[in-house]
Amino acid sequence: MNTIIDRFEKIKSKISSLKPSKTVNIIAVSKTFPLEYIQPLIDHGHLHFGENKVQEAMSKWTEQKKINQELKLHMIGKLQTNKAKDAVKLFDYIHSVDNQKLADNLSKHQKSLNKDLKYFIQINIGNEIQKSGIPVNELEGFYNYCINEINLNIKGLMIIPPNDENTDKYFKTLNELNKSLSLENLSMGMSADYLDAVRHGSNFVRVGSSIFGSRS
Ligand SMILES: *Cc1c(COP(=O)(O)O)cnc(C)c1O
Repeated sequence: MNTIIDRFEKIKSKISSLKPSKTVNIIAVSKTFPLEYIQPLIDHGHLHFGENKVQEAMSKWTEQKKINQELKLHMIGKLQTNKAKDAVKLFDYIHSVDNQKLADNLSKHQKSLNKDLKYFIQINIGNEIQKSGIPVNELEGFYNYCINEINLNIKGLMIIPPNDENTDKYFKTLNELNKSLSLENLSMGMSADYLDAVRHGSNFVRVGSSIFGSRS
């Protein structure tokens, strides 16, 4: 069997051995890899793929999505407002809604393009200065604005936790925040910690290097 598929199937079975209460979507993070390298996993029938740059994703996936309309593309990286329109055209999910100006632009463009994407609000859980995300104390106001004022279909919360020992604590906190807003979906967990994330209720794990190998 192809190594990519082999690794993917192992991840899938590790997740299912935890007996999660809802379906866990594995987003295969294919950033930096060319389409022909990813192709075996597409042919295997996998549908969820993640990218972190609009330009790269457009050239890689535009044709592919016409051929295979079941594919779901996830924008997981920092999204600049001036790329919002292109992002709305291509992606099905945006995990990185992290400020009002971006949210306003996404709303405007999806209306004019007659689209209805699914969104996650990215939270800056460690209140790290260098990291994007909505601070926890602004979350409720921002969430209400997104759903009531600009009709963004917010599905849940997303984090890239700080690089320290407390990942478990951050996952737990995000799960609690999600519940406090009655949100159903959580985008957390990467190659190093996706099993912990699933234990804390994540149902969208973003796994790159454990499937495709290390990025140069
Ligand atoms: C690259 C990336 C991932 C995947 O990281 P791996 O450690 O390779 O699994 C997940 N989430 C985000 C936001 C990323 O940019």
